[in-house]
Amino acid sequence: MKYPKSIKIGYNDYAVVEVPAGNIPGCDGHIEHNPPQITVADDMLPGRAANVLLHEIMHGIYDLHSMDEGSVNTFANGLCVVIRDNPGFAAWLAEHLEK
Ligand SMILES: [Zn+2]
Repeated sequence: MKYPKSIKIGYNDYAVVEVPAGNIPGCDGHIEHNPPQITVADDMLPGRAANVLLHEIMHGIYDLHSMDEGSVNTFANGLCVVIRDNPGFAAWLAEHLEK
């Protein structure tokens, strides 16, 4: 799976690192804030990989300690479906946010 090399969230640049499946106990992704790094399992199908990366980005945005796992799941799953069902929307959004 080809991931972005890094994801900028606020003032931090999180390196995106693939690790062998099973190296992240109990899940497929993890975010660390110091040093900033998002770790993802290397055995996921593309749809799952996108969801997991978005899930970890949501943790980065809302901070692991101030938002519970269920809320992160709800937002990440909801955003994945909106992005999937609206082709071109993510690119449109990114383009307009640059202005
Ligand atoms: Zn989580």
